[in-house]
Amino acid sequence: MPGGDPLNPLLHPQLVNPPFGDPGVLVEVRFERRCLLLDLGDLSPVPPRLLLRTTHGFVSHTHMDHFAGFDRLLRVCLGREKALHLFGPPGFVDRVAGKFAAYTWNLAPGYAADFVVKATAVEEDGTALTAEFHSRRSFAREAERIVRLDGGLLVAEDALAVRTVTLDHGIPSLAFRIEEPAHVNVFRDGLDRLGLAVGPWLRDLKRAVFRADNDDAPIAAPGRDGGTVVLPLGRLKAEALSVTAGQAIAYVVDAAFTPDNAARITDLARDVDLLFIESPFRAADAETAAARRHLTTEQAGRLGAAAGARRVVPFHFSPRYLGQEEEMRREVESAFRAE
Ligand SMILES: [Zn+2]
Ligand SMILES: [Zn+2]
Repeated sequence: MPGGDPLNPLLHPQLVNPPFGDPGVLVEVRFERRCLLLDLGDLSPVPPRLLLRTTHGFVSHTHMDHFAGFDRLLRVCLGREKALHLFGPPGFVDRVAGKFAAYTWNLAPGYAADFVVKATAVEEDGTALTAEFHSRRSFAREAERIVRLDGGLLVAEDALAVRTVTLDHGIPSLAFRIEEPAHVNVFRDGLDRLGLAVGPWLRDLKRAVFRADNDDAPIAAPGRDGGTVVLPLGRLKAEALSVTAGQAIAYVVDAAFTPDNAARITDLARDVDLLFIESPFRAADAETAAARRHLTTEQAGRLGAAAGARRVVPFHFSPRYLGQEEEMRREVESAFRAE
């Protein structure tokens, strides 16, 4: 089953708004009951239960259409025991502090639950500045420190990794790649043959595969007739699992069509299943696009093809083209297919 099982993907990404609305993608992480957000523009279409499940927000840059939704996210999460990790470009910790500075927090230390925002500003020299803001301490900026990022790696969990590169939009603009290190499918009949029951242990088993544990590693599993069976990981892999390349998606917004940006985008989005890429201007308006440090439809399609993306999803259309959505999609698609 090359490329993973399309019926059972881990990541469920979707645009938050229609293509002429604010940019943003909500990624639901199946099985973990949580979400990631790419950009925090207008979030009003996202139901509060999904905002509450959001553990990470990745902000390309803090132009208002990419960051105005911070307030809604904060409003929904306030009073909950929860940590929210936010990532953004240089200066991002100041922007987050500025958001908190807009409100009065004298009551916040009295809330039973502590809502925490952990903000990280990705610098262009491979470091990042992080700071925390706790409702319990009226969102005062604290625990500030500088960390080193390994090749733009922002999140490295057993089942999920997020990477960033900095693009030129006149100002730094971050693009992101989210991927599973591997996709593990479990075969029920394989478990039956080994006399094993299904259950929560399968999650640990998948994590052992993601971590690339040794094939000799012993795995304890519940037997179908009760008791515990211990088997080496290699045997389980051979008889009950298929391990395929993980799912990958990339998110690219607000970037000029420069050779440097093109190289970074194609590298970041290499072989992704899905590339969300901004396409604000029509192909004929390349000069205006260049002046605004944005891509055209045609450039977006070409970049998707150069990266080897399986599919491109254009968005962030300029409102000047309202009523021309189909033409814009066609321009992206024909450039994507032509390469
Ligand atoms: Zn912008
Ligand atoms: Zn924008």
